[in-house]
Amino acid sequence: MQLELPLAIAPVAPPAGTLRYIQLGGEIVRYRFRRARRRSIGMVIDDDGLRIAAPGHVPITEVEAFIREKARWVSRKLSEWRAAPKPPVVNWSEGSSIALLGAPVILQYLPGRRGILLEHGRLGIGLVPRGEPAALRKRAIAWIKEHARALLGERLALYAGRLGVPVPSLSLSSARTQWGLCREDGHVRLNWRLIHLPLHLVDYVVAHELAHLREMNHSARFWAVVGGLYPGYAGARRELRDCTHRLPIL
Ligand SMILES: [Zn+2]
Repeated sequence: MQLELPLAIAPVAPPAGTLRYIQLGGEIVRYRFRRARRRSIGMVIDDDGLRIAAPGHVPITEVEAFIREKARWVSRKLSEWRAAPKPPVVNWSEGSSIALLGAPVILQYLPGRRGILLEHGRLGIGLVPRGEPAALRKRAIAWIKEHARALLGERLALYAGRLGVPVPSLSLSSARTQWGLCREDGHVRLNWRLIHLPLHLVDYVVAHELAHLREMNHSARFWAVVGGLYPGYAGARRELRDCTHRLPIL
């Protein structure tokens, strides 16, 4: 079962699909359209605006009828999206900041050092010559992902212990539309971008996915398992909804 993001996180690749336009009420709405191997038409609004995916056999007229049917939802979501604060873009210069576990960390070049050092609110990146932001970005992202893997693994082990289940195998995702996913076979995928959020929200996502080991649904029984693992989950759930706007674009 997947824990979906209300709006997708920072773009990781240029948006796929053909640009199309449709008139909805008095408004011309731009959207990206692509064909996908799926059973039904899918619709998402994220940092790229409206995106539609449809199976190959569905004619475009039917796709447009589908969008018109959802016109009110689309208009409301698009105006929410326009009004929403935009995520910070990290420019990778010395002194720029990036959120780790909910707190800002200042980036620093350490050309004379080999490693990467997180200390006193500073993330020092070694081996990168000063003034090479692309190299700094590459090393920093690799480090952040490694750091995320270690942290998420730790939290997963902690909460698995509390639930009384073996620690599931973990893989990292950078999916655009989900924080986490628990497969039927017990494998858990967690979004490495969770590392930007405060620990209590990371823990909520971990507890949520682990609870799916007991209940592969979002029934009242499922939420009771979540509540047993993570009391006060409702607040974390609400807070998580606003976090997508704060996730930095790396
Ligand atoms: Zn779920």
